[in-house]
Amino acid sequence: MADKIAKRSKFVVVGGGIAGVTCTEQLASQFPSDEIVLLTAAPLIKAVTNFKQVSKTLEDFDVEEQPSSILEEKYPNVKVIQSAVRQLQAKEHKLQMENGEEVHYEKLCLCSGGRPKLFIQDNPHVLGIRDIDSAKEFQKRLSEARRIVVIGNGGIALELVYEVEGCEVIWAVKDKAIGNTFFDAGAAQFLIPTLDTDKPERDAPYKRTRYTTDRAVPPGTSSTDGRVQDQNPKVELGSALGPDWHQGIKLRGVQEVSHSVHVEYQCEVQKIYTPEDFLLSQQARQPSSDPSSDTGLWPVYIQLTNGKTYGCDFIVSATGVRPNSGPFLSGNSFAVADDSGLRVDDHMRTSEPDVYAAGDVCTACWEPSPMWQQMRLWTQARQMGWYAARCMAADLLDEPIELDFCFELFAHMTKFFNYKVVLLGKFNAQGLGQDHDLLMRCTKGREYVKVVMREGHMMGAVLIGETDLEETFENLILNQMDLSAYGVDLLNPSIDIEDYFD
Ligand code: FAD
Repeated sequence: MADKIAKRSKFVVVGGGIAGVTCTEQLASQFPSDEIVLLTAAPLIKAVTNFKQVSKTLEDFDVEEQPSSILEEKYPNVKVIQSAVRQLQAKEHKLQMENGEEVHYEKLCLCSGGRPKLFIQDNPHVLGIRDIDSAKEFQKRLSEARRIVVIGNGGIALELVYEVEGCEVIWAVKDKAIGNTFFDAGAAQFLIPTLDTDKPERDAPYKRTRYTTDRAVPPGTSSTDGRVQDQNPKVELGSALGPDWHQGIKLRGVQEVSHSVHVEYQCEVQKIYTPEDFLLSQQARQPSSDPSSDTGLWPVYIQLTNGKTYGCDFIVSATGVRPNSGPFLSGNSFAVADDSGLRVDDHMRTSEPDVYAAGDVCTACWEPSPMWQQMRLWTQARQMGWYAARCMAADLLDEPIELDFCFELFAHMTKFFNYKVVLLGKFNAQGLGQDHDLLMRCTKGREYVKVVMREGHMMGAVLIGETDLEETFENLILNQMDLSAYGVDLLNPSIDIEDYFD
């Protein structure tokens, strides 16, 4: 190991994902004569481009992967060190890096993201998708695949089953409906037919620059007891992919079909078999009459808790992420939330003095606005990174700062199955118990609108398709106007609701 080089900086940020880079940029512009140090494990960083404030709380932006030199050119007071943090010594205000350097800080922001939860570790036939390397490995394996099994029901699984072509997809979800993280059963019903239609051709080639690195693809990981575990903690992770992770990479198997998706509802993984074990288990039992139990030789077999067994080329574990707080815990006394995120208060402060956290690694533990909840999404990573920088600055300058307006209302805009999707407030009646009513309007193949009402006040909304309602509904949720008088007419398509309320 190289001799220890010590570096001192007022502000140090860990993590080159959206949260870390946004935090660094904000600090760099607020303190142009101070050096801001960004420490990151991966050679590429993530930068927000084409940022648009669509409405009061909805934002739209692109994300580019860039070499860190571009950030240093844009902000001459930023210094990026590409090396993982090995240890944090919070009391001494210093970090030990894998490359032997020691970095001292006055204020530190941890933005080390998340790690994929795999339902099984160390199985070469089970793949998690998180960063550009794992997406490439997925693409490579898919190009030779006839059938894959996807486990999980969040955003990654939703995108994946829609994007894959030329390969049979068996999609196992633990819930009664697809996309449970984002949608209710009604929205799922609206989306399901899209899986049986051919994907439209993309109108324009992918426009953004992508940089690649020649790092090795991370190997798989350990344990066979079916518990969800972190991917190999020794692997240095790149940043999490975002909404457009599949753009520009061909996700095609060897079959001559567009979509071929079969959903198995309300089931989880029971067991994984090698072909040999599978044949032995078949011999031990009477030959199965279950049509899903094929006896042709597949590289791997998966038994689901509904009793069905599928052979496939490989399995994708899309079962969410776990905050990557591990590298910083040893020797420190961080308050850690149940989901293993670093607990942060309304100034993004952790329980260790002068250590802040933002993005997927943190768990928001302030009393939230009634219309906001944390979700580990790209938008919130940007907002938290930006706000954390402002809090660090305010604390250093001994200035007051109020919780930013972006935390007033949960607002997320994305695309699923090629439909524009806007989620606002308590869009799935989160935390409202039975104390709510739903209003819904749906035009097959065009739009799905659902609003969550409580005692005549709008609490949340799901808008799928080009509804043009986002701004009006955002206002109605924010101002909590009493809408009782309108009843179900609130969603009457013959009433121009926008004119009414704007
Ligand atoms: P990351 O982007 O994970 O960045 C973490 C950074 O920390 C990395 O640069 C890493 O190299 C660095 N790091 C880690 N450990 C260390 C260490 N010890 N020392 C130094 N550096 C370290 N969100 C959406 O809003 N919409 C979507 O459609 C969507 N799709 C997704 C699809 C996929 C496949 C995935 C994986 C995620 C998706 N997300 C989506 C989630 C979104 O990408 C994340 O919420 C967001 O990128 C988190 O940003 P972050 O900066 O907190 O963390």
